[in-house]
Amino acid sequence: MELPLKMAAIIPRTEHLENVPVWQTALAQAIGSVQELLDLLQIDPAMYHETPSNADFPLRVPHSFAARMQAGNINDPLLRQVLPLPAEEENSAGYLTDPLAEQGAMASPGLLHKYHGRVLLTVTGACAVHCRYCFRRHFPYSNANPLAAHREEVLKYLYSHREITEVILSGGDPLVLPDSRLRVLSAQLAAIPHIRTLRLHTRLPVVLPERVDEQLLGWIGNHPGRVVIVIHCNHPNEIDAGVAAGLKQLAHTGATLLNQSVLLKGINDRPDTLKDLSESLFAIGVLPYYLHQLDRVQGAAHFEVSDARASQLMQQLHATLPGYLVPRLVREIPGLPGKWPLWPAVIQARDAKIETSGD
Ligand SMILES: *Cc1c(COP(=O)(O)O)cnc(C)c1O
Ligand code: SF4
Repeated sequence: MELPLKMAAIIPRTEHLENVPVWQTALAQAIGSVQELLDLLQIDPAMYHETPSNADFPLRVPHSFAARMQAGNINDPLLRQVLPLPAEEENSAGYLTDPLAEQGAMASPGLLHKYHGRVLLTVTGACAVHCRYCFRRHFPYSNANPLAAHREEVLKYLYSHREITEVILSGGDPLVLPDSRLRVLSAQLAAIPHIRTLRLHTRLPVVLPERVDEQLLGWIGNHPGRVVIVIHCNHPNEIDAGVAAGLKQLAHTGATLLNQSVLLKGINDRPDTLKDLSESLFAIGVLPYYLHQLDRVQGAAHFEVSDARASQLMQQLHATLPGYLVPRLVREIPGLPGKWPLWPAVIQARDAKIETSGD
């Protein structure tokens, strides 16, 4: 991610600029136009079919993530995750704007208490990257930001529900918030005696590795409770030297590092890709956690992989990886007490094997 660093060096030093961390400059300079991205990747615009304007959820990708895409390849697996396509305009049956019925599950604005013992706070609506398959793309974030207006209400809820032992900061991406705000919030959470674990769900260490700086490492390293960081990485090409360095530093803080991926057609729906992903993550201190079946959000149907195919992929992973490198294949189903494991084909295959070996 050279550009912002260089820019930071040539911009005259004023007191204001000195206080702006490098990552915030990089975030502000994220690519926001399809034209600019295609130019950068030397892709002939004739290869790309314009989509009706996506004003609510425009293209957004940091330079450092774009730098990991292959020039000239319109089917690059990283590019496919961020490039708006006409297929998004199709209305597919069963694909909804709020597929997880989250808006009904808000215990207080921005506080989701769906599962036992843990709550999820949507602390911001912003992300560094706009993933085209994102289930939150239609979310009314202006009403769902507890940091803005509902902090007291959220804290009161947490104090009075003593069964809650873990608070998950999510969004959007919680790490787009400045460290100062994260420190204040985490200190307020740490003051609640029954809350033992702080969890972050963030894609920033992958899409904007500049975010892992001394301030962030200091904050996480000094947090009094357990810290779990669940990153979001879908393809081994997302991991370059900068990402690896940041994650290794995060691992040194003592935080537990896990990864969740979304299973995406044409992007990571091959056994060798998923195997490589698990191994590459493990090499930098991250264990696989969930492999999500796509949430059926309007505009994302073209990314769906069937459950049968997903189960087949899981069988192949089970057959070639140690157990700790096999993610759990899950789907989120409204009303159920957790992410739901999907592995019928694995069980069927096992039963078939037991039968044949019994002959
Ligand atoms: C995914 C999610 C969690 C965390 O679930 P885990 O299975 O603990 O990872 C918690 N709350 C909500 C609302 C979620 O969507
Ligand atoms: S980073 Fe996460 S929340 Fe943000 S757009 Fe991508 S999938 Fe959605």
